[in-house]
Amino acid sequence: MNCSDHPQNPITVICVAKHECQRKLCAQCAYEHNVELQQLLPIMLFQDQLQNKLKEFKLEDKKQLDQSRLSFKSLLSETEKMLQTLWAKFYSSINYL
Ligand SMILES: [Zn+2]
Ligand SMILES: [Zn+2]
Repeated sequence: MNCSDHPQNPITVICVAKHECQRKLCAQCAYEHNVELQQLLPIMLFQDQLQNKLKEFKLEDKKQLDQSRLSFKSLLSETEKMLQTLWAKFYSSINYL
């Protein structure tokens, strides 16, 4: 999943500020977004919250639940991997400053 404004950048944060925006922001968008840091939720945490919500739903069909868990798990691990590389790049670029 990449940023619509910066197609070369992956989405890293979700904006939860009470205003209208595209919500899914890349590192560059987040930097230019001009909201408090607390309003920018790392996408990993967002996925966690989403997963908790999913648990609350308690789907009646167990088969359906297992399937959604599975796909969610793979989605999560993909996102984690992506973020790990991104943060590693980010921190190493900070060290150059
Ligand atoms: Zn926003
Ligand atoms: Zn962007």
